[in-house]
Amino acid sequence: MSFPYEAPVSQSLFDRASAVTPGGVNSPVRAFRAVGGTPRFMVSGTGPYLTDADGREYVDLVCSWGPMILGHSHPEVIAAVQEAVARGTSFGTPGAGEVELAEEIVARIEPVEQVRLVSSGTEATMSAIRLARGFTGRPKVIKFAGCYHGHVDALLAAAGSGVATFGLPDTPGVTGAQAGDTIVLPYNDLEAVRAAFAAHSGEIACVITEAAPGNMGVVPPLPGFNQGLKDLCAADGALYISDEVMTGFRVSKAGWYGIDGVRPDLMTFGKVMGGGFPAAAFGGRADVMAHLAPAGPVYQAGTLSGNPIATAAGVAQLRLLDDAAYEKVDAVSAEVRGLVTAALAKEGVAHRVQAAGNMFTVFFTDAEVTDYEGAKAQEAFRFTAFFHSMLSQGVYLPPSAFESWFVSTAHDTAAVERIAAALPAAARAAAGATA
Ligand code: PLP
Repeated sequence: MSFPYEAPVSQSLFDRASAVTPGGVNSPVRAFRAVGGTPRFMVSGTGPYLTDADGREYVDLVCSWGPMILGHSHPEVIAAVQEAVARGTSFGTPGAGEVELAEEIVARIEPVEQVRLVSSGTEATMSAIRLARGFTGRPKVIKFAGCYHGHVDALLAAAGSGVATFGLPDTPGVTGAQAGDTIVLPYNDLEAVRAAFAAHSGEIACVITEAAPGNMGVVPPLPGFNQGLKDLCAADGALYISDEVMTGFRVSKAGWYGIDGVRPDLMTFGKVMGGGFPAAAFGGRADVMAHLAPAGPVYQAGTLSGNPIATAAGVAQLRLLDDAAYEKVDAVSAEVRGLVTAALAKEGVAHRVQAAGNMFTVFFTDAEVTDYEGAKAQEAFRFTAFFHSMLSQGVYLPPSAFESWFVSTAHDTAAVERIAAALPAAARAAAGATA
C-alpha cells in the first residue's frame, strides 16, 4: 500500500537507527513491520497526546502498551520523579521507595502476601517460573498459544496446537532443551489442560496464563476457564501463575483478579505499576515466596531492582488510581469501542470488538475470538488500511492487529472527538482494503 503522508524527520531518524540498531528499533513491534510505513519517532507526550519528531500530534491509543493509564506527563507523577531524581538515581541498597511500592501492591491484591520487585515483565515471569520449579521440584510448564509472557526462552514456545503439544523452539536461539519442558496448549481449552495433567501428573510445576490475554488481541477467558486452571493445578500440586503484567492495576485496582476473583498462587506485574519507568514484580503465597533468596534457595537478583526513581513513579501513579480513575478509563474505553463499532458497521465491515475490562481489540472478523487460531483467522489486511487512515488523521493505534488498544484518564472529550472524526474515513479504508 502507498503512504501518501510523509514523516521526513522520523524517516531520517529511522535510517540512522537502522544503521546502528537491528531493524531500527529496540522492541520489534515498534518497527511497523506488520503495517508497513515509517515508524513515528515520538518526542513528547502530554495527557492523551503524543507529538512526533515532525511536529505532528496524535491521540495516543497505545499508552506505551499500557503503562500510561493517567496519560502522559501527569504532573503528580512528574513531581514525584523530579523529587526522587534530586536525591540520587541508584544506591544498590534497600530504600524506602521499594517498601512503599511493595506495600501498595500487597494492599491492593489480596493473594499477594509477599512481592519481589524486578525491572521488566520478562524478568517477573522468568523468575516466577524458576520459583515454581524450585518450590515444586518439578520441571514442566504449561502455557497457552497466543499468550505472551515476555521473551523468556522457555515461554517463547508457542508452536503447535492440540493436546499436550510439546513446545518446539519458535525462535532461533532457543534450544530444544530450553523449550522441551514447555507444554503449549490452545487457549480457553480446559479439556486440553486436563489431558496434559493426566499425561504428566506430578511433573508439572505450574500453569502460566495471561489473566485475560491481550497479546493475541484481547481474548478474555471464557467463564470458568481461570477457575478450572486453578482447580486442575491444585489437584495435581502444581502452581497457578496469573500473568497480570498487562492487566495488573489497569483493568481494576486489583487487576483482573479484582474482576474474576480467582486466587493465583503466584502473580506477575509490570507496566502500570512503574508509572512509565522500568519496574515490575512477582509475588503471591508467602510460603512459596519464602523459597526465594536470600530467605530461601531459589536465586534471583537485580542491580537496578527497586530503583528509587522507578518506585517513586510507580507509587505516585498507583496512589492516583482510585475508583473514580478506573470508572473514567472504563467509560472512555466503552465510548471509543462504541464509536469504532458504529463506524465499521456503517461501512459493512465484518468486525468484532472484544474487551477485557478497559482493554480492547477490534478484530476484523464476524466470529467470536476465543483462541489464537481464531485471532489469526481475522482479515488483518483490513486493519492495515484502517491503521494508516487513523495515523494520517492523527490517531496513533498499536501497529498490529494482534494487540490491545489502551486509553487513559486523560482521554477527554476533545481527544475522543478527534478519534470520532477520524473513524468514518478509516472505516471506508478498511471496507475498501484488499488482501
Ligand atoms: N507478560 C505480559 C502479559 C505482557 O503483556 C508483557 C509485555 O507486553 C510481558 C509479560 C513482558 O513484559 P516486558 O515487556 O516488560 O518484559
